[in-house]
Amino acid sequence: MAELTVPDIPIAPSVALDPATTALIVVDMQHDFVSDGGSLQVPDAAATVPVIADLIRRFRVAGARVVFTQDTHRDGDPEFAIWPAHAIEGTHGHAIVDELHPLPDDTVIPKPRYDAFHGTPLDHLLRQWGTRTLVICGTVANICVHYTAASAALRWYDVVIPRDAVSALDPFDLAASLRQTTSLLAGRVTDAAGIALTPPE
Ligand code: ZN
Repeated sequence: MAELTVPDIPIAPSVALDPATTALIVVDMQHDFVSDGGSLQVPDAAATVPVIADLIRRFRVAGARVVFTQDTHRDGDPEFAIWPAHAIEGTHGHAIVDELHPLPDDTVIPKPRYDAFHGTPLDHLLRQWGTRTLVICGTVANICVHYTAASAALRWYDVVIPRDAVSALDPFDLAASLRQTTSLLAGRVTDAAGIALTPPE
């Protein structure tokens, strides 16, 4: 196949968001994806942990919602025909990494598939909270992050992806995902430092 060139992906230098209507979605930062020995480790995921920890801290300080998704399977899950067995409920690999552990005011959404809206109460909760904008970080950028972002955009939530707070198994997959986010999802890609949580005047 001919070599491909990554088209320009527009990067917003900063994104100002209202903490009352914005939620942070931390996707699948579980030992099986993040930690050495994890059954489906994404090598670049560990480097995003401090960036995500800082985002979580800033959202909590601003009083904005923090939601963790947790990939959750049982033995024999059909997904294991696609991927090695991972995120089996009750195992160490299923647990969210210690540095990002959810606090009682946070929300944890166990999810059976890539899309965190599929078969979960996520949309119901976001609508109860009056959430309009989702800042989505975590792993894997082109799989669970992307399918969740796409599902959010189909429901007309605004999507923001901090590119230094997501990780993928392959740079092509990461670039393709960000490209799709900015084009067909009309989402915004920025850096974590560019996200400003500021109540409207
Ligand atoms: Zn899975």
